[in-house]
Formats: sequence, structure tokens, C-alpha cells
Amino acid sequence: MPIYEYRGLALNVSELDSEYKGYFDAAQSHKLVVKKCGADGCGLLRGEPGAACPWCASLDWEWQEVSGKGTIYSYQVITHAIMPAFRDWVPYTVVLVELDEQSGEPNPENGLRITANLLDGDMQPEDPENVGIGKRVEVVFLDTDDGLSLPQFRLSDEAPKGEVWRYPV
Ligand SMILES: [Zn+2]
Repeated sequence: MPIYEYRGLALNVSELDSEYKGYFDAAQSHKLVVKKCGADGCGLLRGEPGAACPWCASLDWEWQEVSGKGTIYSYQVITHAIMPAFRDWVPYTVVLVELDEQSGEPNPENGLRITANLLDGDMQPEDPENVGIGKRVEVVFLDTDDGLSLPQFRLSDEAPKGEVWRYPV
């Protein structure tokens, strides 16, 4: 039962954890995976935790690799670190990314979305001034010293999707 250390935190990725183990196994190979519903006539992808498909409630699913390219759907700038491990990262940005594989499906209000930190080219937190809804991102993998790999995002060179919008400050 591997317990990894990340920024002084103990992260336990249990061999018995079907919800997350495959996600971290894939990340070690620098692949981003999401769950794909196995029900006939559904087959939708989902990024949020949970054993059941949110669209048809099927418990049948498998991991599927995705490109890791997407668009910032929303974000939050963390200015006060609840966890001391992230104290020297503030202010840093958490992004909700809508991945390209299933954007706007199964309906315009929903899509395939996952949450992660927004990092820069040096794998440090991106300057919060640079974040914006509509900006394009790509997955990057933050490797820890003891073999854990964490999917994160960074801004890509692609043109934004629509007009970039930032929360008024
Ligand atoms: Zn389903």
C-alpha cells in the first residue's frame, strides 16, 4: 500500500482503491485518464470522483486516456493556504478545466471537467494575473521524489476559446 510524500503531506494510494488507483497509475506514465461509462447507449466520459455514471447511473466503467487539452471553465485564486504544505505557494490558482474530448456534451451546461492547479513552465504556480476563463491549457505531470505523479495544467500557446473573462478584483 504505497504512501507517498508530497510537500510534507502523506498521500495514500491504496492498492484496493478502484476509484483513484488507475488514475495515479496512468499519471506515473504521464497519461491522463478519465472514467468512461460502460453502459450500452451511454459511454459518456466523466472526470469527477464517484462509482456511478452521473448520466445513467451505471456502475460499469473503465479508464480511458484523454489528450489533456482543454479550456479553463472556471478558476479560484487561493490566497490563504488552509494546508500549511501550500503556504509558500500562495497566491496560486486552481482551475476547473473542460477537456476537449467531451466539451459541451451531453448538453451545453455540462462537459468533461477536472480540477487541478495551474502551473508555469518551471512547475511552479502560474502568476494568477495570467489566468482567465476561456484560456487554453494542457496537462503537465508533477513528479514527486518518491515516484508519485500529479496531473496539473499549464497555459498552452493556443488561442483562447471565445473572449477571455476574469473575475473583477
Ligand atoms: Zn452512463
